[in-house]
Amino acid sequence: MMIASLIGFIGGSSNFFLDFNLNIYPLGNYFVFLYALIMTYAIIKHRLFEIRVIITRSLVYGILLTLVTLSFVFTAFLSGQLFGGTTISRAIVSFIVAALIVFGLDPLKRVLSLATDKVFFKAKIDYQETLRKLSEIVNTELDLSILTERLETTLTQELKLKSSAILLRETYKGKGEKFEARMHKNDAGEPVALQAESPLIEYIQEKKHVSLLESLERKIEDMSEGAERQKLEASRAEIEQVRAALVAPVFAQDRLNAVMVLGPKLSGDSFSNEDLQLVEVLSPQLGSAIQKAKLFDEVRQFGEQLKVRVREATEELKEQNVSLITLQRITTDITRTLDFNKVVQDIADAVSSELGFVGSILIFLDEDGRTFRARAITNTPLTSKALKLLPVRFDRFATDMQDPKQHNLAVDVMKDGQIRYTEQFSDALSPPLPKAASVAIQKLLKIQTVILVPIVVENRVIGLIEVGARRKQEEIGEREIETLKSMADELGIVARNLRLFEQIRTTNEQLEVANKHLKQLDQAKSEFVSIASHQLRTPMTGIMGYLSMMVEGDFGRIEPKHLTILQSLLDESQRMIRLINLFLNVSKIEAGKLTFSKREMQLPDVIEREVRELGKIAKDKKLELTYKKSKAPLPPVFADADKIQDVLLNLIDNAIKYTKKGSVTVSATAEDGGVRVDVKDTGIGITKEDIRELFNKFVRAPGIAQIHPDGSGLGLFIAKSIVEGHAGKIWVESDGVGKGSTFSFWLPVGKQEMTTTEGKL
Ligand code: ADP
Repeated sequence: MMIASLIGFIGGSSNFFLDFNLNIYPLGNYFVFLYALIMTYAIIKHRLFEIRVIITRSLVYGILLTLVTLSFVFTAFLSGQLFGGTTISRAIVSFIVAALIVFGLDPLKRVLSLATDKVFFKAKIDYQETLRKLSEIVNTELDLSILTERLETTLTQELKLKSSAILLRETYKGKGEKFEARMHKNDAGEPVALQAESPLIEYIQEKKHVSLLESLERKIEDMSEGAERQKLEASRAEIEQVRAALVAPVFAQDRLNAVMVLGPKLSGDSFSNEDLQLVEVLSPQLGSAIQKAKLFDEVRQFGEQLKVRVREATEELKEQNVSLITLQRITTDITRTLDFNKVVQDIADAVSSELGFVGSILIFLDEDGRTFRARAITNTPLTSKALKLLPVRFDRFATDMQDPKQHNLAVDVMKDGQIRYTEQFSDALSPPLPKAASVAIQKLLKIQTVILVPIVVENRVIGLIEVGARRKQEEIGEREIETLKSMADELGIVARNLRLFEQIRTTNEQLEVANKHLKQLDQAKSEFVSIASHQLRTPMTGIMGYLSMMVEGDFGRIEPKHLTILQSLLDESQRMIRLINLFLNVSKIEAGKLTFSKREMQLPDVIEREVRELGKIAKDKKLELTYKKSKAPLPPVFADADKIQDVLLNLIDNAIKYTKKGSVTVSATAEDGGVRVDVKDTGIGITKEDIRELFNKFVRAPGIAQIHPDGSGLGLFIAKSIVEGHAGKIWVESDGVGKGSTFSFWLPVGKQEMTTTEGKL
């Protein structure tokens, strides 16, 4: 402006000199033109549209100048009047006034500026204060949305704009990138936004500085038609679309991460240099603040996501827990009962009551392994109504898996054990159900999906659960399916166990019947033996008495040839009586009526007596029968002497009977608080297998009947019963066939509680 004025003044003065006839060409008009040109350039270049500044400044200085001039004129006049115009007094007055002016000028100027500002700049912008406010926001605010919102309001308010928006670079999956305002909506209610690949963004990214709509317009006007111009025109259109008068790029580390969009000033003025400077200063600060806030946002979002995920996981756990509890309740219920029909009915009902489905059908394979049929159907008022649509009871419908004509979806599940879904009830059940019935039932129950869950035990499909749901397949949760599967597994195990239990129960029942029968038989036999023995013994005793008397010669002399016959008759009778006595003993043992009259006794006495008595028979067989006395004296035992004598008699008699040559040795020793008696022979011996059974009733070693036909197999049984009746033990040891055997028994010393034997089979 100064240069323009200078040129204008110099050129203009040429006109003046012309008047003085100095022969200088009047160039004033040209120079005024030059002056205007340079002035325009200056105004445009330096954005000097703010003509008000010039006016106010001129006004202030004009007033000041007038005031100063007036003061001097007034002083001159006053000093002339008052002090008579002496030089000294005038100088003094002038000095005082000058001093007053020097000191008063500045405050005066300030007062004047304020007054004029009030008139011309109703609210002048305090750029420093605005920048401070903006910086404070940029530096303290971490929330991106709040940050942009606060900046927008502050910018709009402080710079007196119609609007302002900060568009942030946002990446949308699949939709590319956008510069978008968080809060700012356009008239259509959509966020104010610019596409990342738009010509405007490209333009400001290249330019790197603030772009003004007006300068862009000027540029366009200066340009000839072409691609460049088109691009700029597109950018202008975009600026207009977001209603901006100014757009400023916001960079952070060379990347455009936001765009500041400022609307036109409320006053209608254009942006001043100071406005632009403010935006330029703010932009980089905002760039890093956005980056910081974005990071913060990410962290926060991550936190939010984490929270959501934790909530979801908790929900899932809760759900899982609920279904586990339900399952547990169902299984505890079903494992409590042993009635298969009740179990399946309970499960069918639980599918509706506990799991919330419409209902279910439990189907099981028959014993034949090829046909299957329903065993239970959920019992609710609605299902009962549905069942009435069937021509016959539901369990009458059976499906033969091997008949292709009877094929349905359930057959597939039975064959491969895979879970299946269908929207048609008839797919799962017709055949065997009439299709019309299936359709009617589905309609009545409003079933949308049927789930067919196999019941598998030990890799074998034994049945399936058909569950009806009023939802589409995709609406049925994974967890629900898992629960159904677990229930089917549980049911499989229960079904198998119940079937086993059923088998055991039937077998048990059969066994019980057989046992009862056997017992009855045994009792009848014992009774018969007892009665028969009693009936036999009396006459036999009579016969034997008479025979003995005859042999003794009580009825007169008898011919020797008759005597031998009578003698053998007597022997046989004695054998028979012995046998009868054995039978009677067994009867007594079985009836639990074998009683003992126990008293203290010396075992060696009984042994000696028996060895003596049986010595004759042994001698006849040329066997050596000895009693090897113990060196130490033996303690007395508390026992029934007669019965113990029977035991000894039986053992020694057997030893002689089953030994062809050699010896039979009896010995007694004190052992374990009792007395042990051994009867050792060098006879036929016994195999290990036979030993186990030998002490049972009527048991004789295999093949023994050929060696010794008259034997009952009762002697050892009775001996065992007697010894055990004394709380003793009896056993046999043998090294095998032909190696002899040792029969032993042991009786405790002192009184024993047990006095009778238990009845034994
Ligand atoms: P019995 O001798 O009348 O057959 P027991 O009950 O006394 O009946 O004996 C049962 C079986 O035990 C005998 O049949 C015989 O096979 C076997 N036995 C008993 N004592 C001996 C023995 N000392 N040596 C070999 N076998 C014997």
